[in-house]
Amino acid sequence: MSNRVETYVVGYPRIGEGRELKKVLERFWNQEASYDEVENTARDLRHRHWIDQKDAGITFISSNDFSLYDNMLDMALMLNAIPERFRNIQDEHDRYFAMARGTDNAVAMEMTKWFNTNYHYIVPELSADMPFSLNAEKILGEYRDAKKYGIRTKINIVGPITFLVLSKRIDYTYDTLELLPTILAQFVLLLEKIAELDDEIYVQFDEPAVVKDISFEVLKQLASSYGILADVSAKIKIIVMTYFNHATEAVKALKNVPVYGIGLDFIYGKENIKALEYLNGKKLIAGIIDGRNVWKNDYKGSLELLNSIAGKFNKDDIILSTSCSLLHVPYSLEHEELIGEDIKKRMSFAKEKLSELADLAKLVSSNKNEVLESSRFKSVNPNVRERISQIKRNEREGTFAERIAVQKKALGLPLLPTTTIGSFPQTEEIRKLRRDFKHKVISQVEYECGIKNYINACIEFQEDIGLDVLVHGEPERNDMVEYFGEQLDGFVFTKNGWVQSYGSRCVKPPVIYGDVSRAKPMTVDTILYAQSKTKKIVKGMLTGPVTIINWSFVRDDIERSAVCEQISMAIMDEISDLQNAGIKIIQVDEAAFKEGYPLRNAEVADYEEWAIKAFKLAVSSAWRQTQIHTHMCYSDFTDIIHTIEKMDADVITIETSRSGNKMLKVFSDHSYKNQIGPGVYDIHSPRVPSMEELLEKIEQLMRVLPAKKVWINPDCGLKTRKWDEVRLSLVNMVRATHNIRCGLEKG
Ligand code: GLN
Ligand code: ZN
Repeated sequence: MSNRVETYVVGYPRIGEGRELKKVLERFWNQEASYDEVENTARDLRHRHWIDQKDAGITFISSNDFSLYDNMLDMALMLNAIPERFRNIQDEHDRYFAMARGTDNAVAMEMTKWFNTNYHYIVPELSADMPFSLNAEKILGEYRDAKKYGIRTKINIVGPITFLVLSKRIDYTYDTLELLPTILAQFVLLLEKIAELDDEIYVQFDEPAVVKDISFEVLKQLASSYGILADVSAKIKIIVMTYFNHATEAVKALKNVPVYGIGLDFIYGKENIKALEYLNGKKLIAGIIDGRNVWKNDYKGSLELLNSIAGKFNKDDIILSTSCSLLHVPYSLEHEELIGEDIKKRMSFAKEKLSELADLAKLVSSNKNEVLESSRFKSVNPNVRERISQIKRNEREGTFAERIAVQKKALGLPLLPTTTIGSFPQTEEIRKLRRDFKHKVISQVEYECGIKNYINACIEFQEDIGLDVLVHGEPERNDMVEYFGEQLDGFVFTKNGWVQSYGSRCVKPPVIYGDVSRAKPMTVDTILYAQSKTKKIVKGMLTGPVTIINWSFVRDDIERSAVCEQISMAIMDEISDLQNAGIKIIQVDEAAFKEGYPLRNAEVADYEEWAIKAFKLAVSSAWRQTQIHTHMCYSDFTDIIHTIEKMDADVITIETSRSGNKMLKVFSDHSYKNQIGPGVYDIHSPRVPSMEELLEKIEQLMRVLPAKKVWINPDCGLKTRKWDEVRLSLVNMVRATHNIRCGLEKG
């Protein structure tokens, strides 16, 4: 390989080492900071992030990877695609945040997951009659700004195909791609403006939409669009960037299109190796530093990979890159003093990944075969491995029909049993209690006393209003995954490992570094305490293995399915302990089951297989008479109904309140055998549903589903609501149910 191997960073985190962006935005929204302060913070952050990359010797550093809220929203504004309801807001900054967050008069634009990451983007709303025009100031300004610091950036822009595929039409049709010619005209104008900036400029068009199974028609549109864009100016070098899976079809479609380079993800798209033959003289931006996980690079593996790429490709045309934007990992390991050295030395966040890229480039150009010590995993717990190899039963005993018959006797529940999903309002008081305990401001005894008081209040309230199956309210949990991770071996928690989820919101995912096992019961004391306060049944409340894995950073030295299996064993033991202690119903939440679905259809069967296996293994210890519930936070089960069937939970509670009964039809059309609790009202809104409204809702449900299968519950946990709202809503829900029950008994 040539002497100087170039390095490339797809994008960099923008929230800031100390979450400066979050803090200033929230102060601005609360009218405690001026817009100037926001701008200053943003400028400082951009500057600092450019310097990080410059200091690490990165060749291709981005501008316009920054955003005050979201890049898709920025794109909508660049195109002047402002929905009608925001157009009368005069101040452009107010308008921007109104689109993102809504106002009293205008609901926010929709937000949804960015592919299979935990980042959420704002969904642009387009219509054919919109007055599209170009506003390139942000893009041009950032480029000029970086140049002042001596950095000639590559400019990141969401590509036209991905932009349209991810947008929605608000006029007569669903077809966003129909707008391609209109949008492209604006992109051409944009490139003309960019061409005035310098004599040579790199532009990265992000096109992750092409890593999904896309149609021949869209591939044709991809090729013709880039044909047009590549033609705009000889000064502009276009890079089509893909990530999260392989992009073989797209590379093939672009074979004869004269763009400068194509970015391919070799971490999450191993099959990209097959795409190389179609590159046809373009540069390869080879994504080999994992942009989505927190582990140190495996240099030996990377060199082998590079060798196999070089075998099929002109090696001088390879640029070493991150697999995707580093937006999806935390900023830096620097302040993680709480993580033990043995684990920390295996980890790498965004800033450390820059050095890894540089190291890899050095290794490659030195042509020596020395390999950097990559500190790969050694965390094996022989007991865990031994137990897994000895698994005898991996699913429950008895068919659903057999189980439900014994459960009916054991539980003695009325028709249309009422329940809730688990959490009750997380009041400021309860948050403070947890915080004070964590910071050792209060003693264990004081903490436990506070938790017990909250549980007492929850139980008393639920008895008072006449719910049938009670919960303890989850006051001890800050987060449904963290709570279990903190008690399991094999997990570690960061102090500052924040990753942007949307806008100013960040999450701090747990890190699974080693074999997972449960040292002792995790929830038994709490649930038993709650059960001791009532004669009604209290549901045990656990988070399922698939959700735990989908919301964590997971070790990458063994298969995800193997990690998941270990978590299943821990949950399985917890279920045994709960039922031995007398708990009759146990809910295993799988809120994130659907999030883990792969982007390519060809990979779906494999995911479904191990995810179902993991869930079934987790509940395999439940006796026939122990009723297993699960909860999933979404409504569209059309594609996954067979999978849900195979999970075979006795009861599934789901979100249907917003989407109506259309979605429920899937369950009736498939004559889903097990019991279902379709959420009867939307907990995401503070609105209290009236008794009449709920009555009507339940009646509608029963037109689709037989009464003996139906549970009545809200559509998710109540932790974000206020007590006043919860009280009134649940009273109405119980009253409506009682009315219907009466009618059924009479009729
Ligand atoms: N049991 C959890 C709760 O009620 C479930 C949360 C969720 O589905 N996201 O909070
Ligand atoms: Zn939910």
